[in-house]
Amino acid sequence: MTKKQFKAESKRLLEMMINSIYSQKEIFLRELISNASDAIDKLYYKALTDDSLTFEKDSYYIKVEADKDNRTLKLIDTGIGMTKEELETNLGTIAKSGSLAFKKENELKDGHDIIGQFGVGFYSAFMVADEVTVISKALGSDEAYKWQSDGTDGYTIEVHEKKSVGTEIIIKIKENTEDDTFDEYLEEHRLKAIIKKYSDFIRYPIKMDVKGQRPKDDSENELEEYEEEQTINSMVPIWRKNKNELTTEDYENFYSEKRYGFDKPLKHIHISVDGAVRYNAILFIPENVPFDYYSKEFEKGLELYSNGVLIMDKCSDLLPDYFGFVKGMVDSEDLSLNISREMLQHDRQLKLIAKNIKNKIKSQLLSLLKDEREKYEQFYNSFGRQLKYGVYSDFGSHKEVLQDLLMFYSSTEKKLVTLDEYVARMPEDQKYIYYASGESYERIEKLPQTELVSDKGYEILYFTEDVDEFAIKMVLNYKEKEFKSVSSGDLGIESDDQENDETQENDNKELFDYMKDILSAKVKDVRVSKRLKSHPVCLTTEGEVTIEMEKILQAMPD
Ligand code: ADP
Ligand code: MG
Repeated sequence: MTKKQFKAESKRLLEMMINSIYSQKEIFLRELISNASDAIDKLYYKALTDDSLTFEKDSYYIKVEADKDNRTLKLIDTGIGMTKEELETNLGTIAKSGSLAFKKENELKDGHDIIGQFGVGFYSAFMVADEVTVISKALGSDEAYKWQSDGTDGYTIEVHEKKSVGTEIIIKIKENTEDDTFDEYLEEHRLKAIIKKYSDFIRYPIKMDVKGQRPKDDSENELEEYEEEQTINSMVPIWRKNKNELTTEDYENFYSEKRYGFDKPLKHIHISVDGAVRYNAILFIPENVPFDYYSKEFEKGLELYSNGVLIMDKCSDLLPDYFGFVKGMVDSEDLSLNISREMLQHDRQLKLIAKNIKNKIKSQLLSLLKDEREKYEQFYNSFGRQLKYGVYSDFGSHKEVLQDLLMFYSSTEKKLVTLDEYVARMPEDQKYIYYASGESYERIEKLPQTELVSDKGYEILYFTEDVDEFAIKMVLNYKEKEFKSVSSGDLGIESDDQENDETQENDNKELFDYMKDILSAKVKDVRVSKRLKSHPVCLTTEGEVTIEMEKILQAMPD
């Protein structure tokens, strides 16, 4: 039996592919720029092994030119170019990646910078183009060729005039339709923004002729138009620079350039890991709480780059919810991307990175606490609530990570203290870590329930936020000390004088019974208390749920 080849309606296939792979049209520019960067990289790698070639980094660039009148967008690169055969195989065969082949042929190991691998990016140009023309002259070749296609029925190739080695791609931008606008891809500011967004860290200059106005030399009022060539991308990613060469100001500039926030970061964390998984990251702990932080609208996440090219705006898998306030970016060479390069294929590497990042954030917060207490308190005032929610969520499974980062107001220190500090100060006879819940520090101070504990000289932690007591219930104990509410039935202090209690209770049995009778709907028991000094009476609770918790539970919607 003879085997037959599948047939495909190539026009429909191309359309389907392009429109289902990419979620945004603007991606086409990222793809074409990536290809241009790859083409320059290939020259660079060739030069490494071929003595007859020299690579002067400064003479390589990518240029983007928009021509509104002719509705064309041109991308020029000074890369390795394509021969006639390469134009046919690489641009004439969908899913054929010349770049992947190049990596294999030259036995480039992981860790080099060539981006291409799937052999589809080029066709993304047809999302915005009626026609694409590629004029290319390959390194070492005397002739140049022109490849042209309208994306429907094939392409043409013919000899063409081109002096220098490299490639020129001319895209005829589609006319606007009722549903879609394409004009924007001819607008200078829009193109600049797309380049900045996705290709800011491409290692070669991406240039544009930019128009502007400036005051005329000899007059203050008159303006003159000018046009100059500008490099749009910043090229060297700050995260690849040596930490020692960077100042706090550099990080702050990066923070505001990237619009991570309008505040200044409280702290930056620069990570370079070269282990089981390789990545660079710059993370920030913001100074202020984003206005929507504690709302459903807030989206946590870090920017994710693969080899300097932006893959995802907000990769939420990189951050646990309880560190959701952290801003910043991660760049890794080791990610397996899916075909659109918008998502990841396997998340093994990502999980490793996420775990690593989580530990780094924790250790950096701990050192902030240790070395810059004031800053830590500032941080804690903004995001402490988040940490406490974190302890409470998932049945306390995060307490190991978070308990050392918690702080509460202390009755004796009159400031925020950590659990570690509390336990270190505990007198030997003190069994529990005591806390009291209430609306404010002032009100808690006046609670009759606190009197005995305070009188013993024991420190009390003041809980003023809804989440406090719930979180502590999840922590359960800290350094083997259990937590105890000052309003719980058994404080662990009174026991020394049980006999006296009983006589008092018997002597006043009638009074107690009378009170119990009157209050029967409201209290379970009326007893002699030894925790009171200046107050005649106070409420206490039995079991795990305290009065404050009950209030919160009752206030919650069903
Ligand atoms: P990929 O980049 O994933 O390989 P593309 O569809 O983006 O796939 O590109 C297909 C191939 O076309 C590339 O692998 C490369 O060999 C070739 N190519 C595309 N653009 C250029 C260019 N500007 N210069 C040289 N070769 C290019
Ligand atoms: Mg590509």
